[in-house]
Amino acid sequence: MRIAVPSKGRLREPSIELLQDAGLAPETPGDRALAFPCRNAPVEALLVRADDVPEYVQDGVVDCGITGLDIVRERGAAVRELARLGYGACSLQAAVPAESPVRSLEELRGARVATSFPRLAGELLPEPIELVDVHGSVELAPRLGLADAIVDLVSSGSTLRTNGLRAVATLLESEAVLIGPPDPHADALHLAGVFRSVVDARGARYLMLNAPEDAIEAICSLVPGSRAPSVLPLAEPGMVAVHSLVPAADVWRLLPELEAAGASSILLVPVERMLG
Ligand code: AMP
Repeated sequence: MRIAVPSKGRLREPSIELLQDAGLAPETPGDRALAFPCRNAPVEALLVRADDVPEYVQDGVVDCGITGLDIVRERGAAVRELARLGYGACSLQAAVPAESPVRSLEELRGARVATSFPRLAGELLPEPIELVDVHGSVELAPRLGLADAIVDLVSSGSTLRTNGLRAVATLLESEAVLIGPPDPHADALHLAGVFRSVVDARGARYLMLNAPEDAIEAICSLVPGSRAPSVLPLAEPGMVAVHSLVPAADVWRLLPELEAAGASSILLVPVERMLG
């Protein structure tokens, strides 16, 4: 099976790390390598531009590929999203110069908009709209008098602010995705499942703690999640161990609350895979 992986840019390293965490990638694919065989599975990774991944998948050159959802939508390729990968988060936003009176998407009607996403901008902005197709440094277009507004990818918003721009609306939320053809090969679906198990595990921690039996109820009500925690007897009479999977994002809030409820010997460990 062949998978296309971004060869450069901000999706390259996290994509190779995902292959590594899935037990597949070699230690370090050389900087100039165009392809590398994966360890432990009959998978070959082809390093190509993130922009080209939808075409490679659509044309059947590879069985699946990793790229940004924004790129997939902009290309309009006939591909299927197999898994969301949880990195490369950004949003496609419409923005105007800070001093502009424009406050809503509606008010962009008739405006000149610079973007390197002409398809998405054409689809998601109100008609009529005049699109100026630019590649790179889109944020400069209003200052150069080339456009009244821009449509571009934003993550923290600091590039917009640095260039004296203000966001008006979010057109699309994006992150890295695994895509395959509309009718994917079973191996590509299997790989999507492996990636999902890694992505889900990254968002979870395995929590272990000891507590007096009479604190179990309070502790179990604090530990969120769909699964009931395991409660195991300890050698010390009246004491139990509680094990549970918790969302990584809740840990900050949870630990002091658990201590206050009587928990001791609290251990939190990373999870490698989550299945089923
Ligand atoms: P690059 O190859 O570095 O231009 O990365 C392109 C892809 O990275 C985009 O298509 C997005 O999917 C993703 N991305 C994540 N955050 C950002 C951002 N702040 N600006 C541009 N691209 C981003």
